[in-house]
Amino acid sequence: MSFQLFGLPVSRGIAIGRAVLVASSRLDVAHYYVAEDDVDAEVERLRTARNAVARELNAMKRDMPAEAPAELSALLDVHLMLLHDDTLTGAAKQWIRERHYNAEWALSAQLEVLARQFDEMEDEYLRERKADLEQVVERLIGVLTRGADGPSAVEHAIAPDSGEDPLVLVAADISPADMLQFKGGVFLGFVTDVGGKTSHTAIVARSMDIPAVVGAREASRLIRQDDWVVIDGDAGVVIVDPTQAAIEEYHAIKRKREAGRARLARLRHLPAVTRDGERVELQANIEQPGDVAAALAAGAVGIGLFRSEFLFMNRDGELPGEDEQYEAYRSVVQGMRGRPVTIRTVDIGADKEIERMSATELRHEHALNPALGRRAIRWSLSEPAMFRQQLRAMLRAAAHGRVRILLPMVSQLSEVRLTLEALARARQQLEDSGRAYGAVELGAMVEIPAAALVLPSFLRYFDFASIGTNDLIQYTLAIDRADETVAHLYNPWHPAVLQLVAQTIASAARLRKDVSVCGEMAGDPAFTELLLGMGLRSFSMHPSQIPTIKERVLGTDAGRWAKSLPEIIAADDPEREVASIIAEIASPRGGPLVASATAM
Ligand code: PEP
Ligand code: MG
Repeated sequence: MSFQLFGLPVSRGIAIGRAVLVASSRLDVAHYYVAEDDVDAEVERLRTARNAVARELNAMKRDMPAEAPAELSALLDVHLMLLHDDTLTGAAKQWIRERHYNAEWALSAQLEVLARQFDEMEDEYLRERKADLEQVVERLIGVLTRGADGPSAVEHAIAPDSGEDPLVLVAADISPADMLQFKGGVFLGFVTDVGGKTSHTAIVARSMDIPAVVGAREASRLIRQDDWVVIDGDAGVVIVDPTQAAIEEYHAIKRKREAGRARLARLRHLPAVTRDGERVELQANIEQPGDVAAALAAGAVGIGLFRSEFLFMNRDGELPGEDEQYEAYRSVVQGMRGRPVTIRTVDIGADKEIERMSATELRHEHALNPALGRRAIRWSLSEPAMFRQQLRAMLRAAAHGRVRILLPMVSQLSEVRLTLEALARARQQLEDSGRAYGAVELGAMVEIPAAALVLPSFLRYFDFASIGTNDLIQYTLAIDRADETVAHLYNPWHPAVLQLVAQTIASAARLRKDVSVCGEMAGDPAFTELLLGMGLRSFSMHPSQIPTIKERVLGTDAGRWAKSLPEIIAADDPEREVASIIAEIASPRGGPLVASATAM
């Protein structure tokens, strides 16, 4: 019988296939008492399992493909940290010694204790780390029950005997480490019972571009092995045992989407020019040097944002030195073959930690509201040697092509002055040591309302500005961008946000300085016309969004939107205003349409 499940849409697209269930080893753990004489051997069994899991996780880290999302390695570190944490394996040993539980029972008993503590945590990010802990325990129990060398549930799942049918994965939860093993196209999509939008699994799914629904609660219990399943990653819906008519309908939607993607891919070599002849730059946001290939394939005319902090993660506390950074930047600059490369100095802090932290440290960090703390440029200025090292690496990379240095989270002129001093000193150090370097342009991210409001005075020191709408929205509306409970208030259409964006673009234009948007708004087609109307001519986004935005640019009359701008940003509901203008333009009579059309 066909039925539907609802969850959170975390990664777009439609997947249709037969379900492969990854069993949760937590569900069927053997419970027995070990004899007094066997306690040491049982503790040793647990220790051996822990070492085997550590080897497994380290091997995954080592063998990670170059194109794997950067977050994965960080997540493996989190799992390793949990694995070695005394509150897990240390406490489980106590259960064995004191109560004579077998190792699997001891682990699941300790998991219960820790899970309750996680549930009581107020911080959503920390609460979601419970899933990481469960995944580590599952892995340990898996090793205990099958022996260190047997195939894991995931390995079983990777090579299921399904004939020719396409496959989708269904699980209570999937660890990011396991997700890595699914790369390569065995599964077309996945569904999990648990997980929020900020869970690590969701983050990784998005970066891997696989249709996915998380938080579908009972999915792994209600869906049976080999059931046909449709995963609608756009709507967050899972249809189990769909009727033939539903399968055909979804196939048709899927084909339409794929044809749409193929059609858009053909725009790759076309310049992005509006209908009224305005040339627009569509650039790419990247996290790793390996992302350059995707940027070029999408037709990016440059890198508008290289989030260099990803080079600083998963390092066991040791940061990349000047030469390593230089090699990374140089490879991007050379890979882009003469196109401009905007490298942002590290934006560390808030949700981007660079070193392993204990749960207590994490809680402390979060309680102190790290989004308002020592983050981004503030962090760099508090680590002057590290900052100069990064600046030297960037200057050296500039000897190979056009490099633009971008500073995140600038809010005060004092930060600008200190940065200019650091840059001058870095240049002098290269000069003194006789190493080659090139000229760079310097830009500021506008992510804090204060920066937008005083932009003219900032721009005396900068060659360009780049608007980080993700943070600009967060700081303008006082909404934590990672907090699901206030996600409904994270509103890019808020008139205050739009006014700050419009004002920033206008200030830069008046001063004849380049300005771009590199936050998510740039890659969201709902905002393309409006941003063009504001005078924006440079957009930077995830490479996969470039074709969609290019199509939108090609169909837009920027002058027409510029005329409507004042009424849009003064409106109570700018989103509705934009929709009504789009409908008006689309109307064959060119006149206003009825209200129902404007609400589309
Ligand atoms: C932004 O804030 O919009 C931005 C591009 O920076 P990040 O998302 O890395 O904070
Ligand atoms: Mg930002």
